[in-house]
Amino acid sequence: MINSSIDFNFEKYRLILIYFLRQQMQVYDIIYQKRNGEELASEEISYMIHGYTQGEIPDYQMSAFLMAVWYQKLTSKERAQLTMEMLKSGKQIDLSSIPSIKIDKHSTGGVGDGTSLIISPIVAAAGGIVPMMSGRGLGHTGGTLDKLESIPGFNVKLDEKTAIKNLQEIGAAMMGQTDDIVPADKKMYALRDVTATIDSIDLISASIMSKKIAEGMDALVLDVKTGKGAFMQKKENSIALAKSMVEIGSDLNKDMFAYITDMNQPLGKTVGNSLEMIQAIEILKGKGPEDIVEIVLLLSARMLVMCKKAENMEKGRAIAQKMIDSYKALEKLKQIIEIQNGDARVIDDYSLFPQASLKEDYFSPKHGYICDMDALKIGLSAVVLGAGRENMESQIDYGTGYIMHKKLGDKVEKNEPILTIHANDKEKLEKARQMLKHAIQVNDKAVDLPLLVYGYVTKDGFKDDTIPRP
Ligand code: URA
Repeated sequence: MINSSIDFNFEKYRLILIYFLRQQMQVYDIIYQKRNGEELASEEISYMIHGYTQGEIPDYQMSAFLMAVWYQKLTSKERAQLTMEMLKSGKQIDLSSIPSIKIDKHSTGGVGDGTSLIISPIVAAAGGIVPMMSGRGLGHTGGTLDKLESIPGFNVKLDEKTAIKNLQEIGAAMMGQTDDIVPADKKMYALRDVTATIDSIDLISASIMSKKIAEGMDALVLDVKTGKGAFMQKKENSIALAKSMVEIGSDLNKDMFAYITDMNQPLGKTVGNSLEMIQAIEILKGKGPEDIVEIVLLLSARMLVMCKKAENMEKGRAIAQKMIDSYKALEKLKQIIEIQNGDARVIDDYSLFPQASLKEDYFSPKHGYICDMDALKIGLSAVVLGAGRENMESQIDYGTGYIMHKKLGDKVEKNEPILTIHANDKEKLEKARQMLKHAIQVNDKAVDLPLLVYGYVTKDGFKDDTIPRP
């Protein structure tokens, strides 16, 4: 009796061991093939993503797989498969009860890039249906959800039912990714973040597109950033990223359009959550820096064309401008804030936003022209103030950041303020001030300004349709 129980247990454990060894071997083989640059079969990609999401494949093997992908890249077939497998790891929002075209916009991330806060109300005010699933700031980049949460009470955690109700009632829902939307991406992104595998065109494309498809959109305008503060610093890589995402979406019958826009210096004149939210409200009141306003009008016009609220870009732009001039977009923002439990009084009373207790100017060391305003370094210094996250657990200090008085190419006198630092901690303020010395350079001669828009990508490829900085 005793012996057979021992035999039984031994056999059971032997089988479990073989099962795990076989599993390890298969994962090993997949990593090995990818490492050697071979194309993986659909089942192999499916096995990796499913196994990792279920916790059957350990982090160390997924890390090796991600690094193999980073080095060897994916074919378009593999990329499409990866996106689909990530999508299938969770649920998809079903927006079929709303008959109109659902249009969204997504930026690949930057500094001072608060355009979603302005575009969503503009397009919804013009009759568009905008389901917008955004992310949080990570590293030097800001995130729409953090900016929205600087509004007291604003709730970004919408469930499917509430998102659909809000879209039906006011045409817009600004929300975060829930736990059941692409859980594979949540796990993989966290791992990529600590294994130097974020900046892979294949992995970024699959990560962004799986979430965008899961949110239920029909059409998507991408704002793919390029330059010092972007994931892709070289224009060719930004174009490749845009092409990759446009291809994934188009193959799934989504209407796709991607602009390539500049992220060498921060967009607009504010960096930080409350400050960018206030700037967004100002733009909807008809005021605001020309560069961000130009991007807002361009992206809004394209969205209005794609959701059939405008016949062409010229008309789309005129409608977007009219939504601002008539305060209809501002009224729409108020509705969005109210329906998502935020305090809409912030629109008329900016003192209701979290504030910084310390406000100090950063002065120009000499007379000349601003020749560098490195978006990456400025973003990293804003993280030190508390405006961004060092890791997913970091707490945001909403009132901190910068108000810029000068931008690239501007003339500046010695000791003239270039920007004002908003901080809540003297030590952090001084650290950020030291970092700014490396981020901002003043030269005797004016420099050529980078373009604002480098062109666009559709499924027919890249078109070099540039827009200069205003
Ligand atoms: N944003 C995402 O959602 N995923 C990435 O991989 C990069 C940026």
